[in-house]
Amino acid sequence: MSDTQYANLLKPLDLGFTQLKNRVLMGSMHTGLEEMENGHLRMAAFFAERAKGGVGLIVTGGFGPNKDGAIHPKTKYMQTESDVADHRIITDAVHAAGGKICMQILHTGRYAYSPNLVAPSPIQAPINAFVPHELSEQEIEQQIQDFVTAAHNAKKAGYDGIELMGSEGYLLNQFIATRTNHREDQWGGSFENRIRLPLTILKQIREQVGKQFIIIYRLSMLDLVEGGSSFQETVELGKAVAAAGATIINTGVGWHEARIPTIAAKVPRGAFGWVTGKYRKELPIPLITSNRINTPEVAEAILARGDADMVSMARPFLADPDFVIKTATGKAKLINTCIACNQACLDHIFNEKIASCLVNPRACHETEISIHPASSNKKIAVVGAGPAGLAFATTAAQRGHEVTLYEASDEIGGQFNIAKNIPGKREFHETIRYFKHQIALTGVKLILGHRATTETLNHSDFDEVIIATGILPRKPEIEGITHKKVLSYLDVLKQHAHVGNKVAIIGAGGIGFDVCEYLVDGNEDTSQDIAKFMAKWGVDTTLKARAGVEGVQPLNTPSERDVYLLQRKTSKIGQDLGKSTGWIHRTELKNKGVKMLSGCEYSHINDEGLHITINGEPRLLEVDHVVICAGQEPLRELTEGLTKPYHLIGGADLAVELDAKRAIDQGTRLAIKI
Ligand code: FAD
Ligand code: NAP
Ligand code: SF4
Repeated sequence: MSDTQYANLLKPLDLGFTQLKNRVLMGSMHTGLEEMENGHLRMAAFFAERAKGGVGLIVTGGFGPNKDGAIHPKTKYMQTESDVADHRIITDAVHAAGGKICMQILHTGRYAYSPNLVAPSPIQAPINAFVPHELSEQEIEQQIQDFVTAAHNAKKAGYDGIELMGSEGYLLNQFIATRTNHREDQWGGSFENRIRLPLTILKQIREQVGKQFIIIYRLSMLDLVEGGSSFQETVELGKAVAAAGATIINTGVGWHEARIPTIAAKVPRGAFGWVTGKYRKELPIPLITSNRINTPEVAEAILARGDADMVSMARPFLADPDFVIKTATGKAKLINTCIACNQACLDHIFNEKIASCLVNPRACHETEISIHPASSNKKIAVVGAGPAGLAFATTAAQRGHEVTLYEASDEIGGQFNIAKNIPGKREFHETIRYFKHQIALTGVKLILGHRATTETLNHSDFDEVIIATGILPRKPEIEGITHKKVLSYLDVLKQHAHVGNKVAIIGAGGIGFDVCEYLVDGNEDTSQDIAKFMAKWGVDTTLKARAGVEGVQPLNTPSERDVYLLQRKTSKIGQDLGKSTGWIHRTELKNKGVKMLSGCEYSHINDEGLHITINGEPRLLEVDHVVICAGQEPLRELTEGLTKPYHLIGGADLAVELDAKRAIDQGTRLAIKI
């Protein structure tokens, strides 16, 4: 593989006993396939597709060494001969596709979703309902044995190595940090005692598996919680890990309970490369960096800067299995880029659903969504080039259908063109760029600036029509809704209407939050600037502060705008936002001084402002403007009198709880059947 633009990224990495074909690691992700009945078959298809796409090394999702440490009560772990046989299906498939794969051994400790959880000390995690049982010394010995058995079995199953999960606040990390380790025996107290468990496990694994087996140690380089490790301790640990037999050290950033975003879209690209860079100068074996690396440019820049020997990308391989091969063959512009939304990956896992990807619904569904040539080619009109129409049109054209895509505006993307202007949503540009190239590649005939009508469709020679016309914003029935103070979210985000300094937002769904952030953030989009992002969230980039955060104050700058965010429901505002990102939006708006009111009844709007009632108490919000973000209704007027066979997709089909994930999934799934 060669493309000089990405020379560092595509350079092989020689590990002595084996060589990786490039510097790209597909990082570990729990996908939910681990718990499935036929999960190993589906994982085999999932990983083999990524191996075929040229990635240098793959790491599986975390497998527990025993039931205590498993990520989920139903997750299979690596203990028996039958487990070995199951995993052999995965390794055979990856090797047949020309790849290499390591199995991650992850012991959740006090993060386990189970009442039988164990930890160094009985201290409950702030993100778990259960108090862990304190491991006895004898039980610790058993845990060590289980780790070693899991690694030995991984080797028997044909893995090229293992990754030992020592970061993100899981068991090994819990032993290392005083935050969670209050023991007074040989496993606690001094730093030397606290790092004894990971080092003992590492040494014993190395003795068991021999020299020619990759051992990656995922080391928490920045805990981002009080009571975490200092820079000096982490250097010491890294050196000891190398001496104990690790082949490569991977970077972990932030415990799961840390209240600093580490992978959401609001985190700048490549935001934590500098952390690995600081340790690379100190440690004797190759280092992998990670977090929010989603394009070959960002990855190459980190390596060229000398911050790491390899880059880890996880979600970008959900978005595009061919990331590396496209990079290596001059087709980087065709990469389907991960937009860091977490909507179909992490949020699915939190909701106990199989992970997938908003921009690539095939991810983890490779055995069920396959794109084959159509048995008979049809002439199909697609109306609307939003996410639903784009996904349908490009997939159907790929199958050989003759597709014409009509779009009323002068650009493709639909509502993504509005979303991309929201602070922290600039990644949406990438999805639009991806579809633009897919249209050219698949031969979709795109007609911009053309508003399709029922009449023209009826008089056309299309065999079928796909209505992907999206939505209309809902106009709630409130007295005074036509008052000049009232604006819709489209007036604000699309027409850039002037908005005064005192504002009430009606509706606190995804769009209400976005409008709020747009109005309070001004020009301060910290998702584009690493230094500003770190200052805002209180991360010390000199690493003088223990764990990067101790004693550091976040930089809160309240908004000059006085903003109310309102809803009728009595539940907490933002409760229905994504689990992995909702807390970030709420924290930011709180820090900006936004007043969030639930249980509002909207009485009327007049020159004075917005009159509401909460708990029977009338209240006047003296605002200059009221912005309506009260959900949407389907836009499907074209179907009235349409004589052609038609299908509705995206918002035109169902506006309730619509998001781009559903729109793209529905468009893709219809296109593989038609
Ligand atoms: P649309 O995107 O609305 O596209 C419909 C298209 O049809 C439009 O381009 C329109 O011009 C065209 N059209 C309509 N009538 C005709 C006609 N007669 N002829 C030709 N063309 C026509 N979703 C998420 O999942 N995550 C987010 O973070 C997110 N953030 C958002 C932020 C904002 C500010 C907004 C407004 C939306 C956000 N969404 C988000 C929602 C997401 O954009 C929508 O769910 C998605 O765009 C719906 O896709 P669609 O294809 O059904 O419709
Ligand atoms: P939404 O999430 O359905 O929220 C609509 C809001 O309006 C709710 O707060 C609702 O709360 C209120 N509302 C509904 N009917 C009303 C009425 N008649 N009068 C007054 N208030 C009313 O819709 P949205 O915010 O427009 O977002 C549209 C879709 O885009 C969402 O489904 C979302 O998934 C997607 N999106 C996602 C993100 C993201 O980050 N994931 C961001 C933006 C948009 P009450 O009924 O309690 O008042
Ligand atoms: Fe990336 Fe969003 Fe896909 Fe997850 S769902 S892989 S964050 S684009």
